[in-house]
Amino acid sequence: MAGSDTVPVTTAARNWAGNVTYHAGAIHRPASLDELRALVAASPRIRASGTRHSFNDLPDSPGVLVSLASMPPEVDVDSAAAMVRVPGGMRYAEVAERVQERGFALRNLGSLPHISVAGACATGTHGSGVRNGGLATAVRRLEVVTADGDLVTLEGGELEGAVVGLGALGVVAALTLELVPTYDVAQRVYEGLPMEVLDDHFDALVGAAYSVSLFTDWRAPRLTQVWVKRRVDEPPPAVLGEPWFSARPADAPRHPVHVISPASCNPQMDAPGPWFARLPHFRPEFTPSSGEELQSEYLIDRADAVPALRAVARVRDRIAPVLQICEIRTIAADRLWLSPSYGRDSVSIHFTWVADAAAVLAVVALVEEQLAPFAARPHWGKVFTTAPEALRQRYDRMDDFAALRRRYDPGDKFGNDFLARHLPAT
Ligand SMILES: Cc1cc2nc3c(=O)[nH]c(=O)nc-3n(C[C@H](O)[C@H](O)[C@H](O)COP(=O)(O)OP(=O)(O)OC[C@H]3O[C@@H](n4cnc5c(N)ncnc54)[C@H](O)[C@@H]3O)c2cc1C
Repeated sequence: MAGSDTVPVTTAARNWAGNVTYHAGAIHRPASLDELRALVAASPRIRASGTRHSFNDLPDSPGVLVSLASMPPEVDVDSAAAMVRVPGGMRYAEVAERVQERGFALRNLGSLPHISVAGACATGTHGSGVRNGGLATAVRRLEVVTADGDLVTLEGGELEGAVVGLGALGVVAALTLELVPTYDVAQRVYEGLPMEVLDDHFDALVGAAYSVSLFTDWRAPRLTQVWVKRRVDEPPPAVLGEPWFSARPADAPRHPVHVISPASCNPQMDAPGPWFARLPHFRPEFTPSSGEELQSEYLIDRADAVPALRAVARVRDRIAPVLQICEIRTIAADRLWLSPSYGRDSVSIHFTWVADAAAVLAVVALVEEQLAPFAARPHWGKVFTTAPEALRQRYDRMDDFAALRRRYDPGDKFGNDFLARHLPAT
């Protein structure tokens, strides 16, 4: 296998946050599609690993892991169709550069561009914006290496089941993504909004621009920051540059966690720039977020945003001591079976916790109790304790996904402990 390599799993084989050590015996890095197909066909148990930014054992395998990081970085832009075909292991930062060169953009990005496209889509990763779906909604075609090493192309109906696929159907070798003409974005941070403003103005606030993020540390009933990302080619939001109730534009760049330098953040202060250098909060060449952390996130119906936030506020005294920052975003409804925003325009309540799993887990359970009446769907790639029965009730298409798994992976080659715990066979 010229160009490919295999490394034994050592302590280096942890996730990005360092809170999960993978049990897999080796990580293979095939250098071509043929090598990948041969590896999958020959491996009794195997799973794909992306850039390992998930906070739980979802990517782990009882057999071996395969990383696509050594596969050829071939990007194919079809300008007439406004589509791009990218390798599954490519990071969004690189995809963004390559489509920008051709005058195109993606509709949205997550808070960091460091993650792989296949890994992000597999977990339902999202950015913000009332009209923006999760990143997986851009996928028009998947090329998947299935259990016997076949390369299967998925489009149309089954695609809706396979895109947010948790790595359970096979190894996604390539994805074709829908593009839009490139656009510029300018972001401005506001500070100091009382939480009670959300009671009557939640929709106006989150709908004020293309992408809006609300931050709070739950130490007081106020939003510490509001990040307003506007498309430069759209009319400026009414709030721009003016005080919004008692919130004022920040007088210098900010990091969401106020004690951290904003050097790792993309430019603010309403300076226009290309979409990929404004929609993610964090710059690709720096460690995103705080680096020493755990994360959890829950998606609920946007119509329930205000009561759900009040429910979380009731336990803020327990949350604040183990929290670095909480971010509230919006995601448009989609039809992807295991997407946390399936069938409902959603609000996400995200928690960047301190890196102390024991202390955090107790509070995670408490937050989940508060959000249970709202049928909260946890982010698949973050820390959660939601019971399998509850997950099952919250996903209408769980049985259909189980059938898809049986069809593409009858021998459970791509199964692991996470899937056995959270999606037990039906
Ligand atoms: C600092 C930080 C900020 C974050 N910000 C956001 C955010 O703004 N929004 C959000 O929604 N999430 C966010 N996340 C979570 C992150 O987007 C998800 O965990 C995502 O899955 C990471 O992608 P990855 O490539 O690291 O996937 P991994 O963690 O490596 O893998 C995740 C899953 O994808 C599967 N997978 C990976 N590659 C393939 C492949 N080629 N074929 C098939 N399956 C594959 C794996 O098997 C596994 O099941 C953040 C995480 C961090 C660490």
